[in-house]
Amino acid sequence: MKYIKDADKQTGCIFCSLPRDSSDLASLIVERGKLGFVVLNRFPYTSGHIMVAPYAHQATIELLDEKTQAEMMSLISHSIRVLRSVYRPDGFNVGANIGCAAGAGFAEHVHFHIVPRWVGDTNFMSTTGDVRVLPEDLETTWKRIKEAW
Ligand SMILES: [Zn+2]
Repeated sequence: MKYIKDADKQTGCIFCSLPRDSSDLASLIVERGKLGFVVLNRFPYTSGHIMVAPYAHQATIELLDEKTQAEMMSLISHSIRVLRSVYRPDGFNVGANIGCAAGAGFAEHVHFHIVPRWVGDTNFMSTTGDVRVLPEDLETTWKRIKEAW
């Protein structure tokens, strides 16, 4: 899997390695901020599932300095604004899994998930089980979100 294989050589961390990729499309980065960046989840729960991460390799929010914490919140807010205009969802799940026990797939570098939700989408998900049927491919999602940013 390319996503895993491309982990940073020093830290072995995908969130350190992604922003070093010069191609925004290859890395699926939609916005590079001063202290953090916004990237599409390569394995989305719904179309428009994005993640916000700091450049700093820290496992948890309280280890980030205040400026970085503030920029995270601002990137999350703008992500919601953009996703609202592009996908017209009925709601959002926004959050971070901190620590493996909390379900973090990648626990060493804190990141926030922003998942657009629609009324009825949980019924759809439970009937299809593990199969995630997405209405559009990642390149299309990337273009739409980047254009709206
Ligand atoms: Zn990292």
